[in-house]
Parts: sequence; structure tokens; C-alpha cells
Amino acid sequence: MRRVLAAAIAALTVTTAGTAVTGAPGQAAARSGWGRPTLAPAAPTPGSPGLGDSYFPDYGNGGYDVDHYDIRLRYEPATDQLSGTTTILARATQDLSRFNLDFLLGVESVRVNGWSATFAREGVHELAINAPRPIVKGQSLTIVVKYAGVPSTTRVNGYSGWTRTADGGLAVNEPESAWWWYPSNDHPLDKANWDVSVSVPAGVEVVSNGVQPRPPLAEAGNRVRWSWRSTSPGATYESFLAVGQYDIVTDTAPNGQPVVNAYSTTLGPLAPAARASIERTAEIVEWGSTIFGPYPFEAQGGVAGPVDGIGFALETQTRPVYGPGFWRRGSNTYVIVHENAHQWFGASVSVADWRHIWLNEGFASYAEWLWSEEQGEGTAQELFDFTYATYPADDDFWQVPPGDPGANDIFDGAVYDRGAMALHQIRLAVGDDAFFRILPQWTAAHRHGNGTVEQFQALAEQASGQDLDAVFTTWLFTRGRPELSGEAAARTATAPTELAEPKSWARLRESHRLLAH
Ligand SMILES: [Zn+2]
Repeated sequence: MRRVLAAAIAALTVTTAGTAVTGAPGQAAARSGWGRPTLAPAAPTPGSPGLGDSYFPDYGNGGYDVDHYDIRLRYEPATDQLSGTTTILARATQDLSRFNLDFLLGVESVRVNGWSATFAREGVHELAINAPRPIVKGQSLTIVVKYAGVPSTTRVNGYSGWTRTADGGLAVNEPESAWWWYPSNDHPLDKANWDVSVSVPAGVEVVSNGVQPRPPLAEAGNRVRWSWRSTSPGATYESFLAVGQYDIVTDTAPNGQPVVNAYSTTLGPLAPAARASIERTAEIVEWGSTIFGPYPFEAQGGVAGPVDGIGFALETQTRPVYGPGFWRRGSNTYVIVHENAHQWFGASVSVADWRHIWLNEGFASYAEWLWSEEQGEGTAQELFDFTYATYPADDDFWQVPPGDPGANDIFDGAVYDRGAMALHQIRLAVGDDAFFRILPQWTAAHRHGNGTVEQFQALAEQASGQDLDAVFTTWLFTRGRPELSGEAAARTATAPTELAEPKSWARLRESHRLLAH
């Protein structure tokens, strides 16, 4: 839940250690077809430099599909120097003369199927690679990229998705974070598995997604190499790296899966609240499984980041990362519920285009309302009423339609709160029986894949036998505060000070203030 680049990408400038590198606009892919004999096989063409996302058109790349990333790194916390090799296993989806990866750090060499390849920087985050030999559709590709850089000083419009801390760093960001630590096809449409191994000085911990295929191994030079493996397909923004001083707590969940929780040793007096929250992850995953369907991944856990790290939290696959702000007023299970609900809604069922962000944030926020109901701290209806009454009709809150908020507002508060209200209206329209059938049907139908708002509406209509067009249009796509009628209108007509405040309200407010912006 964090956005980054507020402006359109076209005008951005990348700087590395304070030096402007390039701002060159997109690639010149024009290829003239005239004069070519009509019966000759089509010549291979460049893969597209983007996947055409309606909000971030140059995110991801066309022409190939990644199956696996092998990310093998060396990191120096003292200098923030990151170097290594990423090996990408992919398959060409067209005849290719060249193709792009998304990446920002300095590239030393690229090989494609063993052959040395020439490459060039294009746009802000494009690494254009010339095929050393023609690539035909369906061909397997092994792409080896060697690189090095200082990720925290590699900035786009002044911003780095890599957070340097006193004891290490964090690669945790949405919608883009891979740019700063491994080359990728950076869009949720191209899911892959990944292995991450990082060599650090002895005494430093490295945490990432999934399971540990082997314990940390000692290396020459008083170093240690940590290994992590994601065995389920994931979107690139769901991958993460946390390097620093962590207490790592391992356990087994009730469903038999490994639980790995990590707590920054910098948390000090915040540590007990962090532990009292994150240690309930397995319980919350089990609760979520009864509502959303089977848990979609191979491991569970959470990372309590350091005090000088991120100010938000992110649903990084199998193991969300939390900023310290969530523990300042004591334990907070709501943010644990939010990020773990994202394992179904965001990590397993990912957006097919970033304009469908409501499928992530609306659902994770509604999960908090369901948890509040479960805990006896306010029902979803009470939270709906209180939210509605809190924002007067002329409040800007109602001017962001959660179904298509715009690239600059994908993490606006309305995507969360009005997004949850929209789901509650859908629940009221179809009834509880249908609503709690629809949620697991949705996660099963798009498991480890992608979804759109339109697909969700179609599934909800099919499962309920109702036309839901009015509800979706009103609550997701129309600016302004929707009118309520009957009892609901009467309940919410009073000022919020006259409504009973749900017990969970203050906690939810505080969490969403950190998650949205
Ligand atoms: Zn979220």
C-alpha cells in the first residue's frame, strides 16, 4: 500500500549518487515493413517496452513471459552497495529482435542463452537488450544480468523504492520496488517464482519471501549467505528484501506451514506490541481461510521493520512487512488482518491493471471490518454507518471513485474506506449467503492469477442471480456521496458525534492513515 511516483513517468529523471543519468524518452521501435517480399517470414520485432497498463503504461514488458528469477546478491550495510547476478528463466511470446527488462542499477553485462548481449538504457527504468541471435516465439530464454549499484541513491524524481536504514536496507514498495534490486518484468500480469540469496557480513540478518531452503551458510571473509525461496507464482511488487538486525522467530502454523516472523532489534519499547500483533498471524490466516478460501501460499509470517525504515505496511507475499508506526499505541491486529487479507486479494488474485486497485484495498479494508465484527468491536454495518456519517457530502473524500481512482490516487483513503463501503453495499444487495459464497469463489477462480473489477461484478452477478450494475456504478464509479434510503438514511443523518463510535474505529483510522495517504 504505498505509492511512489506521483507524476507521469515521461518527464522523470533518474539520478545515481547525485548524477543525472538519462531522461531519454521511450524506444524508437519503428520498423518499416515496405519493400519486404510478402511471402518471406516476418522478421523478429522488438518486444513492447510496456504492458499497456492504463495507469503505468511502461511497467512490465512485452514479448516474453518470466517463469523464474534467481536473484543472487551481495550487500554491504555499511555502504549500501548491492551487487550480484539475476538469472531469469523466461519464454518468448513472439519472435524477438530485442526486449526490455525494468531495472535501475548499473548493469555490467547481459547474456541471453549463453551469448553476450548488447544493451542500452531507455526511458526511466528500461533496460533494452538486443537479441544476440534471433529469438523465436516459444523459445526458452535464460537471461543473465550482472549488476551493481547503491540503491538508496538511485532515485527517480528524487525517490528511491529502496529504504536505507542504520543497519541495512528494505526493498519494500508498491507498485514498484524490484527496479532497485533485480531486473524484472515489473507488472503483476507476469507472475513467477523466485529464489533470493544474499551474502552479508556475519551477524547481519536477511529476510525475504517464502521458505528457507537451507540455513544461512558461512562464507569466506566472515560473511554469511541467506537463502529464501518462493514456490508459488507472485507479482514482482510482492517480492521483498529486509537486511539488518532482526530477531527471527520460527514456528509451525496450525495448517502445518512454516511461520517465520522477524523483529527489528531497533524497535525497543515498540517490540512487545509488534510481537503481540505479528505473533497472531497464523491465527488470523486460519480465520481468513474460513472466509476467503484456502490460504494460497506456502508459508506465513511478518516482518516488523526498523524504526528508521518504512512508514507504511505492505502485503509482501507470505510475509508482510510493517512499519513501526503501527505499534505506537500498542498491539494492532487490524493491520495484520489487512495485510494478510491481501494474501488472497492482491498477492494471489492480483490486479490485471493498476486501475483495479479496489480489488486489493477495498477487500483488505473490508476484512478489517469483518475482523472487528468477529472481535465484538463493531459490526461492518456500524462501521459503514460511522464512515458514512464521518464524511459530509461536500468532503473531498467522495471525489475519488475507488473503481477507477486515477494513477495518482491508487492509495487514496477513499480506495480503502469507500472501497470497504462498496463491498458492504454489495453484501447488502446479495445477502450474506451469496456474499460469503462469492468471496471464496473469486479467490478460487483467479488463484495465482489476475482479476478485474468487471470480472468480479460478473462473478457476483452470476453467483447471486442479480443485476448489480447500479451498486457497482454508484459506489465504485460515481463521484459524490451516494444517497442512502430508509433506515440507513435515518441512522446516518446525524453527526458522527451522535452515533455510537465502534470500538475498532480509532484503531482503523490510525492504520488507514499510515496505509493510505
Ligand atoms: Zn492494503
